[in-house]
Amino acid sequence: MTRTRRRPYADQRPQDLGGGVSSVPVPIPGNPLGYTLVYAIDSPAGPVLVDAGWNHHDAWQALHTGLAAVSVDVRNVRGVVVTHFHPDHAGLAGRVREESGAWIAMHEADAQLVKLIRGLGESEHRDFQSEMMRRAGAGAHEMPSVADVRPEAPAQPDLELRDGDLIDVPGRVLRAVHTPGHTPGHLCLHLEDAARLFTGDHILPDITPHIGIYPYDRDDVDPLADFLSSLDRVAGLGPAEALPAHEWTFPDAAARAAEIRSHHEDKLERLAALVTEPLTIWEIAARMTWNRSWDDLSPVLRGMAAGEAAAHLRALEARGLIRRLPEVDPVRFVAVHS
Ligand SMILES: [Zn+2]
Repeated sequence: MTRTRRRPYADQRPQDLGGGVSSVPVPIPGNPLGYTLVYAIDSPAGPVLVDAGWNHHDAWQALHTGLAAVSVDVRNVRGVVVTHFHPDHAGLAGRVREESGAWIAMHEADAQLVKLIRGLGESEHRDFQSEMMRRAGAGAHEMPSVADVRPEAPAQPDLELRDGDLIDVPGRVLRAVHTPGHTPGHLCLHLEDAARLFTGDHILPDITPHIGIYPYDRDDVDPLADFLSSLDRVAGLGPAEALPAHEWTFPDAAARAAEIRSHHEDKLERLAALVTEPLTIWEIAARMTWNRSWDDLSPVLRGMAAGEAAAHLRALEARGLIRRLPEVDPVRFVAVHS
């Protein structure tokens, strides 16, 4: 997460972007990100939405009236394709389905996570959180309240997508491009007949998406490596206008993908230089540079920072540049040559 040239929600308006595509800003109450851009793609069989926004009364009102402003009646929506399961994207999909009978589609890997979240009780979530933090070297006082970190479970999708699938938008060619990293099932949606790419959170014009690993000490996945390959994947799609889920649209998805890649390579280099003695994930996170000083980060933001640190550590480990000490608890990492 880097510094941002934020544009407030109050300045946003529903917009006809031409070519049968409109965007509607939907507020994310209490979140500095401000809003989600929900896109509507016209079709003779009813519009299809890309993402739906946060499940909140004000957000629903904004979606409803915003769609009306671009001549879309929410009751006619044919389907909602969700870029990923996070609540600012999938939150209102269930409400749209209730209102219109629309299908909800998302990648099968995120659909699995939705199932998992829906089945997780509050005490299981608390146990998962505290055990994860303990193994990362965080003190018990660092625990955020469960209410702050427990994700709201989005609606279960009707359709599970895989890479390369065509989305049911009659008259258009909209293809699912699997871009794991921000979530395991993140999708970009390529409107191939118009050289436009709905980038979700994968590629945003000014900020970079959170790439984390949970639990922090997992060594069987490498979300940052996945994310970097997903950036290359987008660059390989050819010229496309980017229609992201936050901030604003911009002309060249591939150029921004290359910028974000080098941002992470720089971060990896700085991180490798920092792990000169065995350190816990928490100690490492506290020494990294964030958009605020570590002391000023809330427990929730510290938890996310630790997730981000862990994802970068895991990538360095997979590249053979750092290693985790065997059989120590909490886990400690150290540079390979020291
Ligand atoms: Zn988002």
